[in-house]
Amino acid sequence: MQLSPRQIHLDFHTSEYIDGIGSQFDAVQFAQMAKDASISSMTVFARCHHGWLYYPSERFPELMHPHLEKKNLLLEQIDALHEQGINAPIYITVQWDYHSGTTRPEWLIRKEDGSHEGQPFTEPGFYQSLCVNTGYIDFLKEMTAEICDQLRGKLDGVFFDIVGIRPCWCASCRADMKKAGVNMKDETAVRRFAKQMIDGFKADMTQLVRQYSDDCTIFYNAGHVGPCTWDSRESYTHFELESLPSGSWGYLHFPLTARYARKLGMDCLGMTGKFHTEWGDFHSLKNLAALEFECFRMLSFGFASSIGDQLEPNGMLNSATYKLIGQVYSQFAAREAWARPSKPLVEAAVLTPENTLYEHQIPDSLMGAVQMLEELSVQFDIIDETMDFSTYQLLILPDDLIVSREASRKLNRFTEQGGRIIACMQGGLSEDHVYPESFAASYDGLNPDYPDFIVAEGELANELEFGQAYAIYLQGAKVSSEGAEAVLTAQAPYFPRQGDHFCSHRYTPSAHGEPYPVAFRNGQVILFSHPLFQQYRRNAPNWCKKLIAGALKALLPARLVTHDGPSTVTASLLDQPQEKRVNLHLLSYVPVRKSAMIDIIEERTKVNHVEVSLHLPYEIKKARLVPENIDLQYQDGRLIVPEIDGYAIVELIY
Ligand SMILES: [Zn+2]
Repeated sequence: MQLSPRQIHLDFHTSEYIDGIGSQFDAVQFAQMAKDASISSMTVFARCHHGWLYYPSERFPELMHPHLEKKNLLLEQIDALHEQGINAPIYITVQWDYHSGTTRPEWLIRKEDGSHEGQPFTEPGFYQSLCVNTGYIDFLKEMTAEICDQLRGKLDGVFFDIVGIRPCWCASCRADMKKAGVNMKDETAVRRFAKQMIDGFKADMTQLVRQYSDDCTIFYNAGHVGPCTWDSRESYTHFELESLPSGSWGYLHFPLTARYARKLGMDCLGMTGKFHTEWGDFHSLKNLAALEFECFRMLSFGFASSIGDQLEPNGMLNSATYKLIGQVYSQFAAREAWARPSKPLVEAAVLTPENTLYEHQIPDSLMGAVQMLEELSVQFDIIDETMDFSTYQLLILPDDLIVSREASRKLNRFTEQGGRIIACMQGGLSEDHVYPESFAASYDGLNPDYPDFIVAEGELANELEFGQAYAIYLQGAKVSSEGAEAVLTAQAPYFPRQGDHFCSHRYTPSAHGEPYPVAFRNGQVILFSHPLFQQYRRNAPNWCKKLIAGALKALLPARLVTHDGPSTVTASLLDQPQEKRVNLHLLSYVPVRKSAMIDIIEERTKVNHVEVSLHLPYEIKKARLVPENIDLQYQDGRLIVPEIDGYAIVELIY
């Protein structure tokens, strides 16, 4: 299914202590504003986190917002949008519903001690979660069926919100866990049960929605898409990657999620917000350049876009908001032909150490790897060990990636067939602490004598000051060779900093003693004994990136794309075989930590005269900048992009 490209997610969580809900709503004006802002789809509200309904419910009239002046608000929104050719999927809250939580305490998720999850009811907010394994499910199904039935024939999609893996010890979950023999004192076992339960819920709800529409979109939001989504992927029609960079997600979450989500085999959209901060920030506007970057970055992944907004209680869209959105979406529309549909051209994959039982625990090693590899313009996916390795030239195994025995054998087969591997520290170790045979190295536990200091000699350290010592602050591993060649060494400190053994403010310096190996090469495998990616996430030492760059150069000398622009420029290649072209998307926007809380983008960062080198699997006949239609000289895989003013797309015809 190909998603509608330019979407709005129109939040409408509205208190019962406000009068005149929808009183200023003007259907024609509403849809015209959306149309003028180049919007192609707008998700509108059936039921909000306060627990109120915005349609004329016959089954639950008591749950219609008590001050809803436009009884048909939702239906009028949908009809008006449809009249302008704009899609209008509906929003239904699942695990957060303040009214249900307050009036039906038996539906609440319970912690092990019997207390409810989330904040106290004396605090403002609707963050006490409901358990779908209680009688709540009957209400939810009935409500969903009712609105789907009312919309029959014009139901474009259903967005179920707050559908997460939440361990629960409510009476009904306890009874089911007892039946299934789950050890209720074991948090992981309870979490595993909670995951199976919520995955089953998704399958059920999809089946229910399908009774009313064969082809509407269906999505379950948990604020993250990752290995936690894999088992239930068939309940979805697409993936919406909620990731508001000025909220708790930050700027690194979207590309990290996107690189995995695009492996799930369905169309994706990125979701940001128009807010200066995040959801519920009614009266604020995001900086234009920031919104451009966030939406254009989605396009550079070949994704559709969704911008979150919150409708005011009176039902009026804010004109400045839609002027801002229009400024971005008109540019987006002019460029989407070079991104959608497309498939990314990639050379490498990072194996994710993410735990499938958690939605919000992204390992630092993965964050560091994504940051670093994007800076190095590596074209990569993020995959898990069950996925096909054979389509990649290079696999990257981050610092804390423990694999199954089966995956360990798969890694051996991968290298036997010519695949290359860069691994850090425990990356690739099986649960019994054995590296794949192809590493020809053995793991001897953590190195107690740290921090230690790499010595900049050899091909991996070519870009460092020759012979100098560089600290790796985090604790590494002790690794010994079982036939692999030592390609980098380090020296120990005088002693580790402990008790009364310390020297100066930080770590004890190098004793400049006998160097010992800390990186090994066996054929096409390079293994570092330090957690270089976690270190990069922690404080981004440039030498960690240069060591990985050295390993990349040694294993993959002909990279798909490299450039001489600044490390803040991102490059992605999208292949469109149906058009016989590959499109190089270059972005130059720089988030700056201007505040204690969030990163800010205030302007585009213009970059001039960027030389790009390409090693594509096609013979390129012609290169031009699009949509500007400016021809570029392409010779021997090289071209010069005269200027990147925030966003540049080079079309390469083959
Ligand atoms: Zn429960």
